[in-house]
Amino acid sequence: MIGSRDQLCIHSEVIKEQNNMNKIHMCQKFVAARSCVFYNRVEEMKNNPSFNETGIMDIEDLVRKGTANKCCPYYMAKELKNDADIVFMPYNYLLDPLARKANNIELDVTIATTIFIFSLNCVFFFRMLSLFLTKHTMWRKFAKRLDPYNFEALTLLSA
Ligand code: SF4
Repeated sequence: MIGSRDQLCIHSEVIKEQNNMNKIHMCQKFVAARSCVFYNRVEEMKNNPSFNETGIMDIEDLVRKGTANKCCPYYMAKELKNDADIVFMPYNYLLDPLARKANNIELDVTIATTIFIFSLNCVFFFRMLSLFLTKHTMWRKFAKRLDPYNFEALTLLSA
């Protein structure tokens, strides 16, 4: 699973920043100066069983393991991708050439088209789900408590 710094960063100063571009710049600055202690442990931890012998990990798993091992989940995800058979990512990564380049993703057009159509179906599903949730306050409260990040995504999709 690869994701953005916004989803995966565990650096206390960076996660406080609201602006996503500022987050990216702060991270790049820390990485260039090797002053992020979490980044500095990625190389050492990338072969650790807690990361590479645990099967499929989602965003929450990466953040939890990164926090527990004091190791950057964002850069660890990039490392784990190199040996993965299947990599999950936000569908906009497939569409954006800069994101593809940044994540070293080479596009097979047939596979990408299939995945993209699947993603669109997912977006349609979440849009419908979100409309349903919008109309049902009780379900909204339940969904928000269940997973605040996904709830935000659903709210954005319905906008
Ligand atoms: S290297 Fe990782 S933990 Fe450090 S600032 Fe960047 S994303 Fe955050």
